[in-house]
Amino acid sequence: MLTEHLPRVPLGFFPTPIHELPRLSKLLGGPRLLIKRDDQTGLATGGNKTRKLEFSVAEALRQGADTLITLGAVQSNHCRQTAAAAARYGLRCIIVIRGHAPSLITGNLLLDYLLGAEVVFAGDATREEVAERVVEEQRAAGHHPFFIPLGASDAVGAVGFVAAMEELASQIEEQKLRIDRIVLGSSSAGTQAGMCVGAKALGIPAQIAAIAIDSTQAELQEEVAQIANATIARLGIEMTFSPQEVVVFDGYLGGGYSIMGEPEREAITLLARHEGILLDPVYTGRAMAGLIDLIRKGEFGSSETILFWHTGGAAALYAYAGQLL
Ligand SMILES: *Cc1c(COP(=O)(O)O)cnc(C)c1O
Repeated sequence: MLTEHLPRVPLGFFPTPIHELPRLSKLLGGPRLLIKRDDQTGLATGGNKTRKLEFSVAEALRQGADTLITLGAVQSNHCRQTAAAAARYGLRCIIVIRGHAPSLITGNLLLDYLLGAEVVFAGDATREEVAERVVEEQRAAGHHPFFIPLGASDAVGAVGFVAAMEELASQIEEQKLRIDRIVLGSSSAGTQAGMCVGAKALGIPAQIAAIAIDSTQAELQEEVAQIANATIARLGIEMTFSPQEVVVFDGYLGGGYSIMGEPEREAITLLARHEGILLDPVYTGRAMAGLIDLIRKGEFGSSETILFWHTGGAAALYAYAGQLL
């Protein structure tokens, strides 16, 4: 195994299931569609960050940390899963959120508080500045903080998605699957980087096709390659990754990060009403909207088998209640 020598703590229920999306596939008159249910990892409503946090939290514990500090947007699924992971291992958790406190505490933010995290709003400062200050303050107060970067997207966390590809390789063999493409929403790039490293190291022939959530193709290719190479170094394997190998579709950025538009709304509604599956307004709604468009345009052929990697996020739906119906 590629990852077994690295510290890991259990946080999720794995393997997450893979199943067909027959009604969506028929509706689109297109490819065979499968879905990988990382929305069902089980950690306080689940999601892709659970896989990364199994390695990030293990590293924090190894270093003797007593406090996890991370940052994100107000509806960050990453912050909510970090808060849950901290609770699970008896660690304190401080979350630094961009901007000012919203008037309504709902969705992931509600869960952050419920899970016992301390929430700090960055206000007019950048969240990175504020997070740095919080780390120093905690240290000065005699605590042992461990900082987890945005989305846990560093070499430590991305290893979680190398492990995910080991899990996928077993499922491919057991279920006799042939997957041409894996489609996911990519933002802070750690999920995609881990997948790329895992797929290449294990010889999984599927293309990892990312729908960019909030970056251009060139930016994301650069970030994925950088995290991928750092992850390769952490694993201690011989391999390199170049930006040109990273497949990104950046035509679905819409109104920008966390702005839900008509394509996201359509994707969310289609999956809810045809498959009984909840997507989210920020990531999986956008990623599925991209997948649907690429199928409609014929860029993804109708004889392919495509695996949509559901990365979670439905807890944010409640924060968009007024815009969804
Ligand atoms: C964080 C997140 C992503 C993107 O993962 P990255 O590793 O940041 O690229 C996708 N979907 C959901 C629901 C997320 O919370």
